[in-house]
Amino acid sequence: MKFQAESLEDQKRLMTWDDTFCFSCHPGIDCFNSCCKDVTIFLDPLDVGRLRKALNMSSTDFLETYTHRVVSQKSGLPAVVLKMNKDADKKCPFVNDSGCGVYESRPYSCRLYPLDTEQGVEYSFIVEEDTCHGLKESKELTVEDWRRDQGLRDYDDIDHNLKDVMHADELWEEKIADPRMQDMILMALYDVDRFREFVFNSSFLEKFKIDDDIIEKIREDDVSMLYFAAQWLRFSLFGKKGFLKIDRDFLEKKKHEVLGKGKPEK
Ligand code: SF4
Ligand code: SF4
Repeated sequence: MKFQAESLEDQKRLMTWDDTFCFSCHPGIDCFNSCCKDVTIFLDPLDVGRLRKALNMSSTDFLETYTHRVVSQKSGLPAVVLKMNKDADKKCPFVNDSGCGVYESRPYSCRLYPLDTEQGVEYSFIVEEDTCHGLKESKELTVEDWRRDQGLRDYDDIDHNLKDVMHADELWEEKIADPRMQDMILMALYDVDRFREFVFNSSFLEKFKIDDDIIEKIREDDVSMLYFAAQWLRFSLFGKKGFLKIDRDFLEKKKHEVLGKGKPEK
Protein backbone atom coordinates (compact mmCIF):
# COMPACT_ATOMS: atom_id res chain seq x y z
CA MET A 1 0.00 0.00 0.00
CA LYS A 2 1.23 3.51 -0.81
CA PHE A 3 1.30 6.13 1.96
CA GLN A 4 1.52 9.94 1.86
CA ALA A 5 2.16 12.53 4.58
CA GLU A 6 -0.21 15.30 3.49
CA SER A 7 -1.80 15.86 6.88
CA LEU A 8 -1.38 15.22 10.59
CA GLU A 9 -3.96 12.47 10.20
CA ASP A 10 -1.63 10.72 7.71
CA GLN A 11 1.15 10.80 10.31
CA LYS A 12 -0.79 8.48 12.61
CA ARG A 13 -1.16 5.72 10.01
CA LEU A 14 1.21 2.81 10.48
CA MET A 15 3.25 1.32 7.63
CA THR A 16 4.89 -2.08 7.58
CA TRP A 17 8.03 -3.04 5.66
CA ASP A 18 6.22 -3.75 2.35
CA ASP A 19 4.32 -0.46 2.26
CA THR A 20 5.60 2.33 0.02
CA PHE A 21 6.00 6.08 0.34
CA CYS A 22 7.56 8.82 -1.80
CA PHE A 23 10.70 10.55 -0.58
CA SER A 24 13.97 12.00 -1.78
CA CYS A 25 16.36 14.39 -0.01
CA HIS A 26 19.11 16.16 -1.98
CA PRO A 27 21.06 19.45 -1.95
CA GLY A 28 18.76 20.96 -4.60
CA ILE A 29 15.64 20.76 -2.47
CA ASP A 30 14.43 24.08 -1.00
CA CYS A 31 14.27 22.80 2.59
CA PHE A 32 17.80 21.33 2.46
CA ASN A 33 19.42 21.22 5.95
CA SER A 34 16.31 22.73 7.58
CA CYS A 35 15.76 19.63 9.70
CA CYS A 36 19.31 19.71 11.12
CA LYS A 37 18.61 22.38 13.73
CA ASP A 38 16.77 22.82 17.01
CA VAL A 39 15.99 19.14 17.21
CA THR A 40 16.20 16.60 20.04
CA ILE A 41 18.31 13.67 18.88
CA PHE A 42 18.66 10.79 21.33
CA LEU A 43 21.82 8.86 20.52
CA ASP A 44 21.80 5.09 20.35
CA PRO A 45 24.84 3.41 22.04
CA LEU A 46 25.99 2.36 18.55
CA ASP A 47 25.76 6.00 17.39
CA VAL A 48 28.16 7.17 20.10
CA GLY A 49 30.71 4.52 19.10
CA ARG A 50 30.48 5.44 15.43
CA LEU A 51 30.56 9.20 15.92
CA ARG A 52 33.49 9.21 18.30
CA LYS A 53 35.45 7.10 15.80
CA ALA A 54 34.55 9.40 12.90
CA LEU A 55 35.69 12.38 14.99
CA ASN A 56 38.75 10.52 16.29
CA MET A 57 37.81 11.17 19.91
CA SER A 58 37.58 9.01 23.00
CA SER A 59 34.01 8.12 23.94
CA THR A 60 34.48 10.07 27.19
CA ASP A 61 35.55 13.24 25.36
CA PHE A 62 32.79 12.84 22.77
CA LEU A 63 30.10 12.56 25.46
CA GLU A 64 31.51 15.56 27.31
CA THR A 65 31.77 17.73 24.19
CA TYR A 66 28.72 16.82 22.15
CA THR A 67 26.03 15.43 24.44
CA HIS A 68 23.70 16.14 27.35
CA ARG A 69 22.81 13.42 29.79
CA VAL A 70 19.10 12.93 30.47
CA VAL A 71 17.33 10.55 32.84
CA SER A 72 13.92 8.98 32.29
CA GLN A 73 11.44 10.17 34.94
CA LYS A 74 9.70 6.81 34.86
CA SER A 75 12.51 4.24 34.83
CA GLY A 76 15.54 6.26 35.99
CA LEU A 77 17.45 5.00 32.93
CA PRO A 78 20.06 7.47 31.64
CA ALA A 79 20.31 8.39 27.95
CA VAL A 80 22.30 10.89 25.90
CA VAL A 81 21.07 13.65 23.62
CA LEU A 82 23.12 15.46 20.97
CA LYS A 83 23.84 19.09 21.98
CA MET A 84 22.76 21.65 19.42
CA ASN A 85 24.92 24.77 18.90
CA LYS A 86 24.21 27.72 21.16
CA ASP A 87 23.64 30.12 18.22
CA ALA A 88 20.20 31.57 17.40
CA ASP A 89 19.40 28.76 14.93
CA LYS A 90 20.48 26.02 17.35
CA LYS A 91 22.06 24.13 14.48
CA CYS A 92 23.44 20.62 14.80
CA PRO A 93 27.22 20.90 15.35
CA PHE A 94 27.81 18.61 12.36
CA VAL A 95 25.76 20.34 9.65
CA ASN A 96 27.49 22.34 6.91
CA ASP A 97 26.47 23.82 3.55
CA SER A 98 26.91 20.45 1.82
CA GLY A 99 24.75 18.61 4.33
CA CYS A 100 25.68 16.29 7.18
CA GLY A 101 29.39 16.45 8.03
CA VAL A 102 29.27 12.99 9.66
CA TYR A 103 26.95 11.39 7.10
CA GLU A 104 28.48 7.88 7.19
CA SER A 105 28.26 7.88 10.99
CA ARG A 106 25.05 9.88 11.40
CA PRO A 107 22.77 8.86 14.29
CA TYR A 108 19.95 6.37 14.03
CA SER A 109 17.26 9.08 14.32
CA CYS A 110 18.78 11.01 11.40
CA ARG A 111 18.82 7.85 9.27
CA LEU A 112 15.19 7.17 10.13
CA TYR A 113 13.89 10.70 9.43
CA PRO A 114 11.24 11.45 8.06
CA LEU A 115 9.91 8.21 9.55
CA ASP A 116 9.60 7.06 13.13
CA THR A 117 9.12 3.66 14.71
CA GLU A 118 8.47 2.24 18.18
CA GLN A 119 9.71 -1.30 17.82
CA GLY A 120 11.19 -1.43 14.30
CA VAL A 121 8.11 -3.22 12.94
CA GLU A 122 5.58 -0.48 12.26
CA TYR A 123 6.59 2.92 10.90
CA SER A 124 4.87 6.30 10.65
CA PHE A 125 5.73 9.75 9.28
CA ILE A 126 7.27 12.09 11.84
CA VAL A 127 6.54 15.24 9.75
CA GLU A 128 4.11 16.41 7.10
CA GLU A 129 5.14 17.09 3.53
CA ASP A 130 4.65 20.85 4.01
CA THR A 131 7.62 20.75 6.40
CA CYS A 132 9.74 18.06 4.71
CA HIS A 133 9.45 18.76 1.00
CA GLY A 134 11.27 15.52 0.19
CA LEU A 135 7.96 13.80 0.91
CA LYS A 136 6.49 15.54 -2.15
CA GLU A 137 9.15 14.06 -4.47
CA SER A 138 8.18 11.31 -6.90
CA LYS A 139 10.79 8.68 -5.94
CA GLU A 140 8.82 5.77 -4.49
CA LEU A 141 10.33 3.21 -2.13
CA THR A 142 9.23 0.60 0.39
CA VAL A 143 9.90 0.96 4.09
CA GLU A 144 12.30 -1.98 3.80
CA ASP A 145 14.17 -0.23 0.92
CA TRP A 146 14.50 2.74 3.25
CA ARG A 147 15.77 0.60 6.13
CA ARG A 148 18.38 -0.96 3.85
CA ASP A 149 19.48 2.28 2.14
CA GLN A 150 19.87 4.10 5.45
CA GLY A 151 21.78 1.31 7.22
CA LEU A 152 18.99 0.91 9.78
CA ARG A 153 19.26 -2.87 9.64
CA ASP A 154 22.74 -2.63 11.24
CA TYR A 155 21.02 -1.62 14.46
CA ASP A 156 18.54 -4.52 14.63
CA ASP A 157 20.67 -7.12 16.38
CA ILE A 158 22.37 -4.96 19.00
CA ASP A 159 19.13 -3.10 19.74
CA HIS A 160 17.38 -6.43 20.21
CA ASN A 161 20.06 -7.28 22.81
CA LEU A 162 19.83 -3.91 24.51
CA LYS A 163 16.03 -4.05 24.59
CA ASP A 164 16.30 -6.72 27.32
CA VAL A 165 17.97 -4.08 29.46
CA MET A 166 16.37 -0.82 28.41
CA HIS A 167 12.80 -2.10 28.16
CA ALA A 168 12.95 -4.70 30.92
CA ASP A 169 9.72 -5.04 32.95
CA GLU A 170 11.77 -4.82 36.15
CA LEU A 171 12.70 -1.21 35.31
CA TRP A 172 9.08 -0.14 35.24
CA GLU A 173 8.39 -1.90 38.53
CA GLU A 174 11.25 -0.26 40.43
CA LYS A 175 12.81 2.98 39.20
CA ILE A 176 16.61 3.26 39.25
CA ALA A 177 17.10 6.14 41.66
CA ASP A 178 20.75 5.73 42.72
CA PRO A 179 22.94 8.15 40.69
CA ARG A 180 25.89 5.71 40.97
CA MET A 181 23.80 3.03 39.31
CA GLN A 182 22.74 5.49 36.60
CA ASP A 183 26.38 6.38 36.00
CA MET A 184 27.30 2.70 35.75
CA ILE A 185 24.61 2.15 33.09
CA LEU A 186 25.69 5.24 31.18
CA MET A 187 29.30 4.08 31.23
CA ALA A 188 28.47 0.54 30.06
CA LEU A 189 26.18 1.61 27.23
CA TYR A 190 27.67 4.84 25.96
CA ASP A 191 31.21 5.32 27.27
CA VAL A 192 33.07 2.33 25.86
CA ASP A 193 36.54 3.65 26.75
CA ARG A 194 35.63 4.13 30.41
CA PHE A 195 33.88 0.74 30.51
CA ARG A 196 36.89 -0.98 28.92
CA GLU A 197 39.15 0.66 31.50
CA PHE A 198 36.84 -0.63 34.24
CA VAL A 199 36.82 -4.19 32.86
CA PHE A 200 40.56 -4.46 32.24
CA ASN A 201 41.96 -2.34 35.07
CA SER A 202 39.89 -3.44 38.06
CA SER A 203 39.23 -6.79 39.72
CA PHE A 204 36.44 -7.42 37.15
CA LEU A 205 38.29 -10.20 35.29
CA GLU A 206 39.20 -11.87 38.59
CA LYS A 207 35.61 -11.74 39.73
CA PHE A 208 34.05 -13.20 36.60
CA LYS A 209 35.11 -16.29 34.69
CA ILE A 210 35.13 -15.15 31.07
CA ASP A 211 36.35 -17.12 28.06
CA ASP A 212 39.62 -15.94 26.53
CA ASP A 213 38.07 -15.46 23.08
CA ILE A 214 35.50 -13.05 24.52
CA ILE A 215 38.23 -11.15 26.38
CA GLU A 216 40.22 -10.79 23.15
CA LYS A 217 37.16 -9.52 21.24
CA ILE A 218 36.17 -6.89 23.79
CA ARG A 219 39.74 -5.66 24.17
CA GLU A 220 39.62 -3.94 20.77
CA ASP A 221 36.16 -4.11 19.26
CA ASP A 222 33.57 -1.56 20.47
CA VAL A 223 30.54 -3.44 19.13
CA SER A 224 31.60 -6.65 20.91
CA MET A 225 32.05 -4.53 24.03
CA LEU A 226 28.48 -3.29 23.66
CA TYR A 227 27.11 -6.86 23.52
CA PHE A 228 29.24 -7.59 26.58
CA ALA A 229 27.88 -4.49 28.34
CA ALA A 230 24.31 -5.69 27.70
CA GLN A 231 25.16 -9.03 29.35
CA TRP A 232 26.81 -7.34 32.29
CA LEU A 233 23.87 -4.99 32.86
CA ARG A 234 21.41 -7.88 32.70
CA PHE A 235 23.51 -9.55 35.40
CA SER A 236 24.06 -6.45 37.56
CA LEU A 237 20.55 -5.06 37.35
CA PHE A 238 18.38 -8.17 37.19
CA GLY A 239 20.63 -11.05 38.29
CA LYS A 240 20.40 -12.79 34.87
CA LYS A 241 23.66 -14.69 34.47
CA GLY A 242 24.00 -15.42 30.73
CA PHE A 243 27.67 -16.19 30.09
CA LEU A 244 28.84 -14.18 33.13
CA LYS A 245 29.72 -16.47 36.01
CA ILE A 246 31.29 -15.29 39.27
CA ASP A 247 34.58 -17.06 40.06
CA ARG A 248 34.06 -19.01 43.32
CA ASP A 249 37.73 -18.66 44.34
CA PHE A 250 37.36 -14.87 44.07
CA LEU A 251 34.26 -14.96 46.27
CA GLU A 252 36.03 -17.09 48.89
CA LYS A 253 39.04 -14.76 48.85
CA LYS A 254 36.80 -11.71 49.34
CA LYS A 255 34.89 -13.43 52.14
CA HIS A 256 38.12 -14.12 54.00
CA GLU A 257 39.34 -10.57 53.46
CA VAL A 258 36.09 -9.11 54.82
CA LEU A 259 36.09 -11.49 57.78
CA GLY A 260 39.77 -10.65 58.43
CA LYS A 261 40.95 -14.23 58.08
CA GLY A 262 43.64 -13.60 55.47
CA LYS A 263 44.14 -16.00 52.56
CA PRO A 264 41.84 -19.01 52.25
CA GLU A 265 43.56 -22.37 52.60
CA LYS A 266 43.98 -24.28 49.35
S1 SF4 B 1 13.27 18.46 5.70
FE1 SF4 B 1 13.20 16.52 4.53
S2 SF4 B 1 13.77 17.01 2.42
FE2 SF4 B 1 14.27 18.79 3.71
S3 SF4 B 1 16.45 18.44 4.23
FE3 SF4 B 1 15.27 17.51 5.88
S4 SF4 B 1 14.97 15.38 5.26
FE4 SF4 B 1 15.64 16.50 3.45
S1 SF4 C 1 23.98 14.47 12.63
FE1 SF4 C 1 23.91 15.02 10.48
S2 SF4 C 1 21.87 14.41 9.77
FE2 SF4 C 1 21.82 14.46 12.00
S3 SF4 C 1 21.08 16.49 12.55
FE3 SF4 C 1 23.31 16.58 12.54
S4 SF4 C 1 23.88 17.24 10.48
FE4 SF4 C 1 21.75 16.56 10.41
